[in-house]
Amino acid sequence: MPHPSSKHVSRFPDAHGYYGEFGGNQWPPHLGPVLEELAGAYEELRSSPDFRHELDTVRAGLQGRPTPVHYLKNISEQVGGAGIYVKREDLNHTGAHKINHCVGFALLAGKMGKRKLIAETGAGQHGVALASAAARFGLDCEVHIGAADVDKVNANVGLIRLLGARIVPVSAGQSTLKEASDSALHAYTEQHAHALYAIGSAIGPHPFPMIVRDFQSVVGQEARAQFLAITGGTAPDHVVACVAGGSNALGVYSGFLDDPEVALHAVEPLGTSARLGQHAATLTFGRPGTLHGARSVLLQEDDGRPAPVRSIASGLAYPGVGPEIAMLCKAGRLSVGTVSDEEAAATFLRIARSEGIIPALESAHALAFAISLAANRPPTERILVNLSGRGDKDADFVLAGYDNGEALRG
Ligand SMILES: *Cc1c(COP(=O)(O)O)cnc(C)c1O
Repeated sequence: MPHPSSKHVSRFPDAHGYYGEFGGNQWPPHLGPVLEELAGAYEELRSSPDFRHELDTVRAGLQGRPTPVHYLKNISEQVGGAGIYVKREDLNHTGAHKINHCVGFALLAGKMGKRKLIAETGAGQHGVALASAAARFGLDCEVHIGAADVDKVNANVGLIRLLGARIVPVSAGQSTLKEASDSALHAYTEQHAHALYAIGSAIGPHPFPMIVRDFQSVVGQEARAQFLAITGGTAPDHVVACVAGGSNALGVYSGFLDDPEVALHAVEPLGTSARLGQHAATLTFGRPGTLHGARSVLLQEDDGRPAPVRSIASGLAYPGVGPEIAMLCKAGRLSVGTVSDEEAAATFLRIARSEGIIPALESAHALAFAISLAANRPPTERILVNLSGRGDKDADFVLAGYDNGEALRG
């Protein structure tokens, strides 16, 4: 839950769920009462000390929070510029930051008297995190996944089943994440009386982006206190995160949004080129539009349909971005950089071999950007990177396609 004194959090979203010109609720009107029920229940619980206590207890025991902040000594010395520190969200149970809001949604669902959680998943990461949280809170769980993705992410599909959740394969259109989202939303429409939709990022109609941001803000609050303890009271000069919808980014930014002297950086996947269809760099190349029930920035075809996207990191392959990130970018609070597939894979190997940490390919985008940034900044500066997840899921793929056998310590 956000720090009660946060100026930014108390200003956004506004009473109608907007972050400047972005956000709002563009879902079908008959879902209005469903979203209002959720917003009302959440409003009551977010300030309840019991709710907070229960959340903190499960986070400590099930997830392994707090996760540490760690100095990347070898890489920092090799680069010879600014020092690089990482917030170890890869050490969360189920391997990424996503469980921060999955546990929150599970607790919220129980308090609202719901018996079931519904969500979509692409690569399966969100599905595994949600299935684990559902099991802990004794809730049914239904994970929609595109039929074309089922075979690709077989290991995660197995874990989701093992954790007691039901897999709903979706065969429509291209049978990937977009169709799985439509199907999960349809299921929620039909089952909202006893089910809660647990969205995968800080996206969707109000109040979803706010709820996800608030549950993820634990990352930034911890990181701020830990960083200040390490440095003797100095905040980082730069905070870096990879961005798809923006949940891990908002999580870590939330500790520093009220500090204008801390530069915030969003890193997007450039894929194989800057041509539409070859990347997923929404803030860099997108324009305003509506997707998944909210106004934001998106990559679109000339006729306004969402453009196809690709990235070596499947968790970053999304044609939109959450409304709060879109606002921060437009307001100039956030600067945006891009990293290609090639650079992300090279950084994945370099971090593994220099630091003994295997980052998710998603997180490797943020790390690659931070290494370039460090090289251009003086040793007196410090960079904090959100290491959003671990890369076990990517290991075979990187070894097969990108490892040329060199030890990349230098
Ligand atoms: C899903 C995922 C992301 C991207 O999602 P955001 O909502 O933008 O954070 C980044 N890193 C990892 C490890 C992920 O699993």
